[in-house]
Amino acid sequence: MAARKTTSRKPAKKPPCPNCQGGHVLESFQVGGRRKRVSDDRQEALCLTCWGTGEAPTD
Ligand SMILES: [Zn+2]
Repeated sequence: MAARKTTSRKPAKKPPCPNCQGGHVLESFQVGGRRKRVSDDRQEALCLTCWGTGEAPTD
């Protein structure tokens, strides 16, 4: 196993995530399993793109 140094220094300033604002997204959620009803309410959810970091994923 070759020990290669792959430590690449990431820039301190990362581009913001394009899919959210500050790591949170507003999404509508469905209420109830028996009665399919879509609520008008929106809940704040963790952005799955950047995992709440608010930064664009580099990988
Ligand atoms: Zn995001």
